[in-house]
Amino acid sequence: MIREVHSHYTKIVNNEETAKFLQSKKVSVNFNKRMSDDELWRIHKQSLKKAPSKKSVKKSLLDLKIELGERMLKKCELCERKCMINRHKTKGFCGVGPNPRVFGAHTHWGEESFITPSATIFFAGCTMKCLYCQNAPESITYKAGEPWNPLMMAEWMKDMRLGGCRNINLVGGDPTPNVPAILKALKLLDVNIPIIFNSNAYCSSKCMELLSKVIDLYLFDFRYFSDACGMKLSDTRNYPEIAARNHKLAVKRGDLLVRVLIIPNHVECDAVPIIKWLAENVKGKAVINVMSQYRPCFKAYNYPEINRCLTSDEFKKVYNLAKKLGLKLI
Ligand code: SF4
Repeated sequence: MIREVHSHYTKIVNNEETAKFLQSKKVSVNFNKRMSDDELWRIHKQSLKKAPSKKSVKKSLLDLKIELGERMLKKCELCERKCMINRHKTKGFCGVGPNPRVFGAHTHWGEESFITPSATIFFAGCTMKCLYCQNAPESITYKAGEPWNPLMMAEWMKDMRLGGCRNINLVGGDPTPNVPAILKALKLLDVNIPIIFNSNAYCSSKCMELLSKVIDLYLFDFRYFSDACGMKLSDTRNYPEIAARNHKLAVKRGDLLVRVLIIPNHVECDAVPIIKWLAENVKGKAVINVMSQYRPCFKAYNYPEINRCLTSDEFKKVYNLAKKLGLKLI
């Protein structure tokens, strides 16, 4: 079933296909640093349609993405908060500076079976602030962990692949603020391994463009279907609309695994309509993990509505609906 839905991902794991970032290094692109942002985005859009060259190329699609990523750091709109600040000089909502800090990097044995063992890198800082975050405080404390540069990241990724990991799993916090550094690391990486973008799905359209032809498997949360719940529990505006848009883009551009974390007392307003949306929009093209493991963490103890584990009735209602609607469940 996984091979059927995630054929690209599975083939890279087995070395039968080439990871997208390696293909992007072979797409020839003509640009220079004097060009305006608009010109570069226009060339980027055209270059996404080009096939990789058999010969070595002077400047590649990945080089262009790196240039665009560098420019985004000076006016950041990598996520939908669109702080538009220069991250070399100041910090936005996520608090992440120009370079990543990493608070964990290891082989993860607890992910979904087909992506385990997974070389997982935890970036400090996040674009959302969930009251029940399981990785807090590190995930939302941009000062957590140690600074990592692209070369360290690339060397670590290579070692993990040679050590038997099936994929690189970019997580946090959220990987979104660190996309510019991730692109630079992938430029230095020379082993064939699938790249997983493990995110809350709150990235901007421009960020999604940068990830196109780089990410092999999008591992997206779909957390809320109500704006009010997104604001209340994660201080995040317009979450359902943004997440829906990004899930639709992801399924066109790569493989998609969706995690639906059921939050207690948020079955009718969030989990149930999310399952219905998934059935209408990505059925047969994505694998869905309906997650029962919510437990109160971080600030959830202060909010009675989310200060408990899930009941089996809550879980069964969502899981059975997903099954009935024919979603491919893990
Ligand atoms: S990643 Fe998002 S929250 Fe962070 S600075 Fe950029 S726009 Fe702001």
